[in-house]
Amino acid sequence: MSRIRSTNTKPEEIVRKYLFSKGFRYRKNDKRYPGKPDIVLPKYKSMIFVNGCFWHGHEDCKYFVIPKTNTEFWVNKISKNIERDKQQAAELQEKGWNIIVIWECQLKPDKIDSTLLDLVHILNALK
Ligand SMILES: [Zn+2]
Repeated sequence: MSRIRSTNTKPEEIVRKYLFSKGFRYRKNDKRYPGKPDIVLPKYKSMIFVNGCFWHGHEDCKYFVIPKTNTEFWVNKISKNIERDKQQAAELQEKGWNIIVIWECQLKPDKIDSTLLDLVHILNALK
């Protein structure tokens, strides 16, 4: 297996390239759905959101640190994002979609291999 390189590649691109190399076919940023999911796999009734840890407020994550200045603004902003993510996921799940969230920190060099392997296992189990 070739190592997955993450240099200068957007996180969602890394996941797409990996899935493509494993034979998965998908749609990108489908605007018909709330939240414009990064990856839509109709055959697996699944949508993958690749979330930045800061913007989406990844709980207990070292990359989610509220800035010391304008703290109130950031707390508000990120809480709204979290709330919106939850609502969108609920809406999509109601329509029968499986929602898979991959956090940016799960794509760091020490985690990426297991994250992508797990993702493929999850998807294969859904087929
Ligand atoms: Zn994180």
